[in-house]
Amino acid sequence: MSRSVLVTGGNRGIGLAIARAFADAGDKVAITYRSGEPPAGFLAVKCDITDPEQVEQAYKEIEAKHGPVEVLIANAGITKDQLLMRMSEEDFTSVIDTNLTGTYRVVKRANRGMLRAKKGRVVLISSVVGLYGGPGQANYAASKAGLVGFARSLARELGSRNITFNVVAPGFVDTDMTKALTDEQRATIVSQVPLGRYAQPEEVAATVRFLASDDASYITGAVIPVDGGLGMGH
Ligand code: NDP
Repeated sequence: MSRSVLVTGGNRGIGLAIARAFADAGDKVAITYRSGEPPAGFLAVKCDITDPEQVEQAYKEIEAKHGPVEVLIANAGITKDQLLMRMSEEDFTSVIDTNLTGTYRVVKRANRGMLRAKKGRVVLISSVVGLYGGPGQANYAASKAGLVGFARSLARELGSRNITFNVVAPGFVDTDMTKALTDEQRATIVSQVPLGRYAQPEEVAATVRFLASDDASYITGAVIPVDGGLGMGH
């Protein structure tokens, strides 16, 4: 069964690993990118999720080429870390606009087709930081915690329509996002992770693919950690 899958921010990092996992399983995979050359092997649509017009255009292109999106992975996200006293209004609102409101935009648009099809799978990429907190990450943590309330509300709203909404909360993953950390910061983080290492993007992708599979047909409103044990108990 080849499904129409959309991975936002599927051009690099965790999103690219997720896109590859679905493509390897035979699905038709669309990815969004904002600039540069997107990776080959996918339907790459240019889309900044902070712009509702670009979201609409991206969906039109995907629907014309792959049909309505049946599986949506809302992965695109940014950080703008700063201690609260130095965090500008723009640092805060731009992270919320991308990570939380951007997810609202892509989920809402995907839902149109899913409601018609009376089925759908939505996976939101949150973070261990959403529930654990992180100094200097009040904006990011608020956006990622917001995804949990968002997903759980929709799980209740649309469960009867056979659409599942789940959240994956990765810990620290080896991507461009975490390359910005200093060696000292990395060592501190690793010392707190029971498994004693960063995740590879493919380890997050495997969980995402499971949640979108038939094997996960009775899972909705869940928050699944892929964090090496970092957030245990939250
Ligand atoms: P990267 O920084 O490597 O990639 C971020 C992706 O998001 C890129 O594809 C980027 O596109 C896309 N993106 C950012 N802003 C927008 C926007 N406005 N519109 C469309 N696309 C956008 O990050 P990761 O792969 O590490 O992270 C992916 C997700 O996983 C994020 O939501 C992140 O918060 C989350 N996460 C990451 C963790 C980690 O340790 N790395 C841990 C926990 C969660 P472009 O190439 O155009 O910039």
